[in-house]
Amino acid sequence: MSLPNCLQCQSEYVYEDGLLLICPMCSFEWTPGQEEVEEGLKVLDSNGNLLQDGDTVTIVKDLKVKGALKDLKQGTRVKNIRLVEGDHNIDCKIDGFGPMKLKSEFVKKL
Ligand SMILES: [Zn+2]
Repeated sequence: MSLPNCLQCQSEYVYEDGLLLICPMCSFEWTPGQEEVEEGLKVLDSNGNLLQDGDTVTIVKDLKVKGALKDLKQGTRVKNIRLVEGDHNIDCKIDGFGPMKLKSEFVKKL
């Protein structure tokens, strides 16, 4: 089971203490399972900016695409993204590639 990143500082060194999750980096404590209902989906780009449905982003590094003949190039503009749960947390459509999913850490908000 993997623990979520800290809600406050995004640190990945969160640990469990009983029902609580505790961040050793900023001392933030919270109970898992409540925050998502209250705050909704929180997706950050490579700069730590909050992304929203409908945003336009650019790709920050060349990415290999499964089944595609070419790589997705750094600087490619992606319009009208949709945020989803999961490892690849951006749903989008890219010219020349079609519908695909991206990781938010590989994009930058425009
Ligand atoms: Zn923290």
